[in-house]
Amino acid sequence: DTVAPEALLQEIFGFDAFRPGQGEIVEAVAAGRNVLAIMPTGGGKSLCYQLPALMREGVTVVISPLIALMRDQVRGLREAGVAAGALTSGNTEEETEEVWQMLETGALRLLYLAPERLASAGAQRMLARAGVGLIAVDEAHCVSQWGHDFRPDYLRIGELRRALDVPLAAFTATADAETQAEIVTRLFDGAEPQRFLRGFDRPNIHLAFQAKDQPRRQILAFAGARKGRSGIVYCGTRAKTESLSRALSEEGHSACFYHGGMDPEARRAVETRFANEDGLIVVATVAFGMGVDKPDIRWVAHADLPKSIESYYQEIGRAGRDGAAAETLTLFGPEDIRLRRSQIDEGMAPPERRAADHGRLNALLGLAEALGCRRRQLLRYFGEEMAEDCGNCDLCDRPPEVFDGTEAVRKALSAALRTGENFGAGHLIDILTGNETDKVKQRRHDELPTFGVGRELKKGEWHAVFRQMMGHDLVRPDPERHGALVMTEAARPILRGEQGISLRRDIMARATERRPAVK
Ligand code: ADP
Ligand code: ZN
Repeated sequence: DTVAPEALLQEIFGFDAFRPGQGEIVEAVAAGRNVLAIMPTGGGKSLCYQLPALMREGVTVVISPLIALMRDQVRGLREAGVAAGALTSGNTEEETEEVWQMLETGALRLLYLAPERLASAGAQRMLARAGVGLIAVDEAHCVSQWGHDFRPDYLRIGELRRALDVPLAAFTATADAETQAEIVTRLFDGAEPQRFLRGFDRPNIHLAFQAKDQPRRQILAFAGARKGRSGIVYCGTRAKTESLSRALSEEGHSACFYHGGMDPEARRAVETRFANEDGLIVVATVAFGMGVDKPDIRWVAHADLPKSIESYYQEIGRAGRDGAAAETLTLFGPEDIRLRRSQIDEGMAPPERRAADHGRLNALLGLAEALGCRRRQLLRYFGEEMAEDCGNCDLCDRPPEVFDGTEAVRKALSAALRTGENFGAGHLIDILTGNETDKVKQRRHDELPTFGVGRELKKGEWHAVFRQMMGHDLVRPDPERHGALVMTEAARPILRGEQGISLRRDIMARATERRPAVK
């Protein structure tokens, strides 16, 4: 039985796309190869063994020195319906008993094990009987005798791997060559594992965003300048894939559409055509792409804003796999933001997950309205720092004009604070611009000192300020309270006057033309 990793990613973990590196690592680990993966902290290592654990036979043993983290992960997995358990010094007798039980019956999928457990002969025997299919080692640098985090018990892991004769996947954020060499010696007996290093950047892909102005014409122009080269246009709805594909055909492109509502045969036909034909454009929903492995896709356009920064990275990443230059364009507009927000709020996900989803959408909006090099901002989100600007994005090509927005942002923050962080942008803007709505009068917000202090900006410009504030993560909408804007730690130095902030002028200028939406 082969379950697609993307399906599990969605169903079990609730993520809509892999982060940089995750897809390749999951594939290698699930295929039973020995793997050494170096990923930045926060890059999403745990998924790289949790997901393969669900794809492989037998139980996956996870070794980690961090007891609190193990317990968190076990709780998270159980909430998602995955049989997971931990054997650590913090266990109660009942917990331990339950884990042994699940091991005996073969029900357990992931067993988290504190390294000191490896010292006991009982545990070794138990593992030999349990039908282990994979060993995953978190914080693998703990095996290095010269490092700060040396754990003598980690030296027993190599022995365990030999005894069980199963693949091993080692993860760490420590990248230096010496530590890597030591990991290879001690965990893999010197046999070269498949290595995944940081450096998930795809420098050949040009990044660009545009605010939606005349979206259809923008996409036709982008495709028109690349006539005869293979590309994908991602759309938010099935209906749009069909109409946009027609429009492209009318312009003389060779184009077809693809979405999840088509029968499997028709979909396969498009996949085959795309793989074999030169210069075909596929206009598709996100259903297109999982099985697509065409190295020479020259461009990817988003007619609508993707769901999250992870989805964005994954979708543009389908271009230029051959390493030759590829181009991307992502359109975004107020309707997209509204739609994505309501999709998250109306979903069935628990509150913490929804809050995280809003955060990932905010990160994408921040990227859309970035002040400087987009790649720098994109990679920073995934934990990688670039030494220099990339020179291969629209903002490196043409830096945006900025102005000092400190005063405006301070006014906006103080309006939020003075109303108890209980309101969304719309109401705060009414206060700032001195708009005496019923709601303003009812709450006596016309008596606040902030009332009318922002008349120098128009309503649309204030919306642009709030959107950029969200992009800079100064305020976050609280989904539990109808998007009431709550200040983050990052806003405090600005409010206190210790730090200034630049805003983009072009976005402000556009805002006076039409009214964008923020929550
Ligand atoms: P680390 O690499 O530091 O061990 P974690 O595995 O704890 O990182 O992941 C860091 C955070 O990223 C977690 O909150 C996790 O839920 C989130 N995360 C991991 N993978 C994805 C993904 N594909 N999409 C969205 N969020 C993800
Ligand atoms: Zn750049």
